[in-house]
Amino acid sequence: MTTDIKSLDTAQLQALDRDHHLHPFTDALLLGQEGARVISRAEGVYLWDTDGNKMLDAMAGLWCVNVGYGRKELAEVAFKQMQELPYYNAFFKTTHAPVVDLARLIAQVSPAHMNHVFFCGSGSEANDTVLRMVRHFWDVKGKPAKKTIISRVNAYHGSTVAGASLGGMTWMHEQGDLPIPGIVHIDQPYWYKEGGDLTPEAFGVKAAQALETKILELGEDNVAAFIAEPIQGAGGVIVPPSTYWPEIKRILDKYDILLVVDEVICGFGRTGEWFGSDFYDLKPDLMSIAKGLSSGYLPIGGVVVGDRVAQTLVDEGGEFNHGYTYSGHPVDAAVAAANIRILLDEGIVERVRDETGPYLQKRWRELADHPLVGEVRGVGLVGALELTNDKGARTCFDDKGSTGTMCRDFCNKAGLVMRATGDTMIISPPLVITHEEIDELLMKARQALDLTAKELGIM
Ligand SMILES: *Cc1c(COP(=O)(O)O)cnc(C)c1O
Repeated sequence: MTTDIKSLDTAQLQALDRDHHLHPFTDALLLGQEGARVISRAEGVYLWDTDGNKMLDAMAGLWCVNVGYGRKELAEVAFKQMQELPYYNAFFKTTHAPVVDLARLIAQVSPAHMNHVFFCGSGSEANDTVLRMVRHFWDVKGKPAKKTIISRVNAYHGSTVAGASLGGMTWMHEQGDLPIPGIVHIDQPYWYKEGGDLTPEAFGVKAAQALETKILELGEDNVAAFIAEPIQGAGGVIVPPSTYWPEIKRILDKYDILLVVDEVICGFGRTGEWFGSDFYDLKPDLMSIAKGLSSGYLPIGGVVVGDRVAQTLVDEGGEFNHGYTYSGHPVDAAVAAANIRILLDEGIVERVRDETGPYLQKRWRELADHPLVGEVRGVGLVGALELTNDKGARTCFDDKGSTGTMCRDFCNKAGLVMRATGDTMIISPPLVITHEEIDELLMKARQALDLTAKELGIM
């Protein structure tokens, strides 16, 4: 127990990991047999493992390292804040400068009508907060029957009980008897897999109208909110048809139902705008944030609250019986504020909008000619490829995602971290990625696609 962990080699670390560490979203038995990949350091868009392999991280960790790895200034801010005030809470009428600074910065970069933030430790906690906040809001408004939240099949809203219930992943619902009552799911705007013979535009309207059908079925007076990611992330980077969000907005304006936009992935520059809500002009009532908020350097999340809800809660809400020990943690807040200042000072969001986003999307779309690729899509610095064995027919392999896993493993061998969701390959690189690094990403992705196609006998 006293050996310095730094003196252990890869195999020793893997053995200890297997014996003592239960991983998230992992088959423990399989991992124990194969051994975990041990990551040791990172810089810019690159990772290194303990065997010395260098990889281009086209997932920015888990969609979060927006300003790239190795930012010494963030480490220094944390070091200073820990010495000055490592912890104090924001319960019981107290506050501190770092959380005030972060709240005003978030209000500055958020849509104009959103000026308040409730802090928590993660995206899941943000969505747990959303559930309680919208129901509390309607109680205060004298409409306690407005309880049900409408979400979407294949949405991802986190892994806590409320997060996984709001999410639409049936394989997550199966463990833990979810969803909890009061949450229902409508179909997703996934044209490639579910659009049938409709054009993307016609399908977008149809998918949005499922919301109206559900509202009428439940009764407007029983519906509290609709929650959605601007672009579904973990579900497979599903970019909705252009007609989808305008129709959703039309429906929400017609009925008195709150719009909650889960910005955990799209927030802080991913689409080339500060928020997906800016990209699609959504004017939400609430936004869940996490991930890019601190670029993953420390765990922090929050709910950005629009003026309508905030004013009601402030003026009439009384005490909100909700909060976390680490709500507005001073070190997390100081680092998140410094992260936002990096995004502002270096003009990173504008660069994604005007330069690196369009360049990545142009190069990414070149993969459409590959025999294994059925569709290429993306916005800003997020993208997806649909793998297919019948180009043009929008079919997928019926092998439960093993083609995607094969392609992902070839990516890893080529020195590229790309993720597979079933047979959908997805990327979400750090927002600081350069043109040369985008070229490298594309070269390696094509290499992995070629190897996958050869393995399958398609090329
Ligand atoms: C990752 C994610 C979450 C959950 O965030 P955690 O910090 O993992 O709890 C919620 N919503 C979306 C859209 C996400 O991508």
